[in-house]
Parts: sequence; C-alpha cells; structure tokens
Amino acid sequence: MTVMPLRKIVVASRNQKKVGEIRDLLAPHEFEIVCVADLPDVPDVIEDGDSFASNAAKKATQTASFLNEWTLGEDSGLEVDTLGGAPGIYSARYSGENATDDKNNTRLMTELTDIPTEKRTARYVCHIAISDPQGNIQINVEAYCRGWITTEPHGTNGFGYDPYFFIPEYHKTFGQLDPAVKRVLSHRARAFGQLIPQLVALKSSTVA
Ligand code: IMP
Repeated sequence: MTVMPLRKIVVASRNQKKVGEIRDLLAPHEFEIVCVADLPDVPDVIEDGDSFASNAAKKATQTASFLNEWTLGEDSGLEVDTLGGAPGIYSARYSGENATDDKNNTRLMTELTDIPTEKRTARYVCHIAISDPQGNIQINVEAYCRGWITTEPHGTNGFGYDPYFFIPEYHKTFGQLDPAVKRVLSHRARAFGQLIPQLVALKSSTVA
C-alpha cells in the first residue's frame, strides 16, 4: 500500500484559540495546517474516552478516516491536585451543558473556595496523537506544565483557565504572559517539543 505524503495536517479541533497555538507551534516546519472547522460536513467526535490519550486518539483516527487525511488529535485539560485531578478530561465542560470559559472558571473558583494558596497546585496536561489517513496512530506524546490556581483572574491572553493559571517562575498567569512565553513553557509547547522531531522524521519517510 502506498503511504500518502505527510505535507498537510488536519487539526481535529474546533477550538480556534487552541488551533491558533498549534499553527504557531508548527509554523517553522512547513506543513499545511487545516482546521477541521474550515472543512464542510466533518462529523463531531464524541469525547467519551477515559483519558487524554484515548480522547486524542479518537479525535485523530475518526477524523483521519473520514477525510482520508493525516490528522492531529489533541486533548488537553487542567488537573488540580486538591480536587483529585478534576476537572481533568472534563475541563472543557466543567460547568455542564453550554459551558463557556467564564462558567468553567466560576465553577473552579467555587470548588476552591477557602483552599489556601499552598494547596492550590495544579498542572495542565496535553496529549497529541497523529493518525495516518487510514486511521492508524503513528505518533503519541504527552506533556505537562505545573503551576497553581489564583483566587482572582489576571490578564486576558490565552483561553480557558489561563487567567487563573499562575506560573511561579514568572510571577504571572498565562493570561498575563506574552503568548511567546506560553509558546515555550506550556504543556502544549512541551508536547510539540516531543512531537516535532518525530513528525519531521515521519514526513521524510513519506515524501519521496
Ligand atoms: P479539549 O478541547 O476537549 O481538549 O478541552 C480542552 C479544555 O481544557 C479547554 O476548553 C480548556 O478549558 C482547558 N485547556 C486546555 N489547554 C488549555 C490552555 O492552554 N489554557 C487554558 N485552558 C486550557
């Protein structure tokens, strides 16, 4: 069977801010990046896996098989230590149906009421899976970024929980930090640090 050259990658996410970060991280590596939201009639993937890895794999393989294209599936979220890892894989829908970033942050603040600073430690998790056009996973990576959760929002950069996610080394939240800093430090940046050498090697093996 001939392998389709890996030049174009479909990103199986409709979160425009996340896709923007992914585009920036892949920009130096000469792939054509297409967001699934810009393609017609691609079915939504139901995120019912029990881990970041299984949800990322599901997004990648189902979208790849439907489109017959190389596809990147990314699943990420926030794990707060004192909440036993919640919201975890439920980060996007922490506040239930019709969740928004604001509603999710409100719930997070409610859950953390009266929790002192030293117990507000947390980490972001990012899992990425790359599927070939036939729906077979070819690469899997996972990475983390540790910080702690503030009591008030700070800054408007980033998305999701970023205004509350404090990076001790910089004394700022991801909401306050320049996007260029998030591009180096974040869970997504670290996952791409693992991914890119493997992706570039895979590209070379498929492009004649
Ligand atoms: P997913 O799109 O199903 O992977 O859900 C990801 C959710 O995790 C987002 O909606 C945010 O709530 C949270 N999240 C993941 N990465 C980030 C980040 O970089 N900043 C802030 N929130 C994030």
